[in-house]
Amino acid sequence: MANIIATRNPGAAKRLVLSAHYESKIMNGGDFVGATDSAVPVALMLDVARGLADKIDQLTSRDLSLQLIFFDGEEAYHEWTDTDSIYGARHLADIWEKGPDSATVAALSGTAQHVPELQRVELMVLLDLIGASTTAFVALELPTADLFIQLGKLEKRLRSAGHISRTYMDMTVQPGSKNIADDHIPFVQRDIPVMHLISVPFPEVWHKLDDNAEVLDPRVIADMSIILRSFVARDKADPQELEPLSEEKSEADIADDDVSDNSNNNDDTILAGNGPDHQEASNFPGTGHAVFCLHACLVPVIP
Ligand SMILES: [Zn+2]
Repeated sequence: MANIIATRNPGAAKRLVLSAHYESKIMNGGDFVGATDSAVPVALMLDVARGLADKIDQLTSRDLSLQLIFFDGEEAYHEWTDTDSIYGARHLADIWEKGPDSATVAALSGTAQHVPELQRVELMVLLDLIGASTTAFVALELPTADLFIQLGKLEKRLRSAGHISRTYMDMTVQPGSKNIADDHIPFVQRDIPVMHLISVPFPEVWHKLDDNAEVLDPRVIADMSIILRSFVARDKADPQELEPLSEEKSEADIADDDVSDNSNNNDDTILAGNGPDHQEASNFPGTGHAVFCLHACLVPVIP
C-alpha cells in the first residue's frame, strides 16, 4: 500500500489538508468501482488543486499551504475492525506524530527546525461518500462544529447568488451526536482538528456493486466543486475569518471566475458524469496548474 501526498509548498509552516481514500473495496461477485466511495471525493480534491491554482499561491504567502492526502487501505479486507481498516491513515498519523515528512525535510534542507509533521496540520477535511443525489452532511466532529456552521453559511450565500443548485449542510442534527469511523480517526485521536464531510445517511449503494457512475448526480458534483473551491480560497482554519477574501473578492466573484474562464476547458474533465446534466457539470474549467510536491508514503501491511 502507499499513501500519496501532494504538498503545494512543503516549506510552509502550516497545512490545510484535503483528504480522501483512493483505493476501493475488495468485493465478491464483481469489481467494486466505488464511485461515491471515494472516486468523486478524489476528483473533487484534484478539481480544487486545478481550479484554484492562482489562489493556492495566496495561501502559501501566508505560510499556510494546501496539502492533499490520498489514503490507501481505508477499506477492510474482511470485516471492519480497529485493525482491519484505515491502514494508510493509521500509518501516516503514526509516523507524522514522531517526525517531519520526508518532503518537508527536503524542502527545508536543514535550515529550519524539523517539527513532527502533525504539528503543521491546521485543519484536515476528510471527504467520503459524495456524489449521489442524496449527498448531505452533518457536523460530526464537535471541535470543528463552528467551522461547519460557517461552511453552511457560505453555501447559503452561494445558493442565494445562484452559484449552486441547493445546500448540503444539515444543521438540524446536534453537532457531535454521531460518530462515523473513517480515515480521520487516528488524527482525531492525536487532537488534530478534522471536518469530516461524509454523506449522512450513507448513499443507498454504499458497499454495493451499484456504487458506479449511474448513481452520480453531476449537479451535486458541480455544486461541491464550487463549495470546496470557495472554502479553500479563504481562511478556512479559523471560523472567525471565514468571510470573503476581501471587499473586492467575494465567494460569488470566485465562482464567477470559475464559470467564466472557459479557455482551458478540457474534454477529459474530472467532473464528467453520465446524466442529462453532463455537459453543464463538465463546464468548470481549470484556470491554470499549480505545482505540487508529490510523493508516496509506503504503508507496511501485515495481513
Ligand atoms: Zn467504503
